[in-house]
Amino acid sequence: MTDTPLPAPSGGEPYLLTPGPLTTSRAVKEAMLCDWGSWDGDFRAMTRTLRTRVLDLIGPGRNDYDCVPVQGSGSFLVEAMLGSFVPPDGKVLVLSNGAYGLRAAQTMRYLGRDFRLLDKGDYLPPRGAEVAAILAEDPAITHVLVIHCETSSGILNPVEEIAEVTRAAGRKLLIDSMSAFGALPLDPQALGCTAFVSSANKCIEGVPGFGFVVVRKDDLAAAKGNAHSLVLDVYAQWEVMEKTGQWRFTPPTHVVAAFLTALDAHAAEGGVAGRGARYARNRDTLVPAMRALGFETLLAERWLSPIIVTFFCPADPKFDFTRFYDAMKARGFIIYPGKLTVVDSFRIGCIGQMDHHVMTRVAEAAAEALAEMGVASAAPPATALEEKKRLAA
Ligand SMILES: *Cc1c(COP(=O)(O)O)cnc(C)c1O
Repeated sequence: MTDTPLPAPSGGEPYLLTPGPLTTSRAVKEAMLCDWGSWDGDFRAMTRTLRTRVLDLIGPGRNDYDCVPVQGSGSFLVEAMLGSFVPPDGKVLVLSNGAYGLRAAQTMRYLGRDFRLLDKGDYLPPRGAEVAAILAEDPAITHVLVIHCETSSGILNPVEEIAEVTRAAGRKLLIDSMSAFGALPLDPQALGCTAFVSSANKCIEGVPGFGFVVVRKDDLAAAKGNAHSLVLDVYAQWEVMEKTGQWRFTPPTHVVAAFLTALDAHAAEGGVAGRGARYARNRDTLVPAMRALGFETLLAERWLSPIIVTFFCPADPKFDFTRFYDAMKARGFIIYPGKLTVVDSFRIGCIGQMDHHVMTRVAEAAAEALAEMGVASAAPPATALEEKKRLAA
């Protein structure tokens, strides 16, 4: 691994320490300085390349799977996956431990399709044994949906464990790998996964505008007629793309161009392993430096993803999140408010065009921000530490 610092964002813009949109390279932004005709051969070739190169990232199962891009943000893709691969008479077990799990459940409500919610609260992981018990007790369940990295807390959910019990019970597995794909290994064939979704603006480090489904070809073939929505019908999108090489409706041409450039950088960095190693080093630089200031993470090391880290807000009454946010922004870092319901927290993303040198400066900026507010120690309140103990139990 090279230790040459990555270039800072152009024009002195702040780093986005957020889980997408995130800080992209200059090359990714420059890739958009051209206009493409959506039906033109050049753009059709770009779409073909995009689909092939995503499949190159999934390992030995690539020939059994296909990649179908769909316009929109990540949530459009989750809805497209649920609406296209869960038949109208299917039933989904939605495993939730945060905002994205709850959003998937809300999507099922909109779809008007049957589901059961296992709601673990803000961050407790769904475990294999409890999923197996629900599947044994409820034969109507056809699919299980798991969030790979639940970005609201940053927890890395035990996807292998859940895949194993889902397979053993003969049900189909759907994965929201939005914030993990590209940085954490995901082998759909080994997991026996029907489909997973991700988007252009997370770990591949492209810009927002489309996402993609990676789906097993037999499950895709069986999906005809399932969709509730014209624009989110993955089968129809695939069918037209196969036949004409085109997207059904106006494609985000510039975003596709940026994504291809982002994929080049991803490959040059060593693919999923290289990208994951940089993010892990970001986390492993950030967390000890923040702990040295008194901050504590919500999650124990075992569950801490290299994607985003949740820290408790300090107990000191002089700490004010808005002031902290502004002080961080003044130093070039946009952080992210927390999403926990029980205790106050904030999040710092480890993904995007930044390295451990930047993470060191993030902790230095946090120290300065605390000093500005007159906060001597960033130690969290006792209630936060009790909350953390629940996870260890
Ligand atoms: C980002 C993300 C999504 C999609 O959110 P959008 O706001 O629609 O981009 C879905 N699931 C997870 C886990 C995510 O991190």
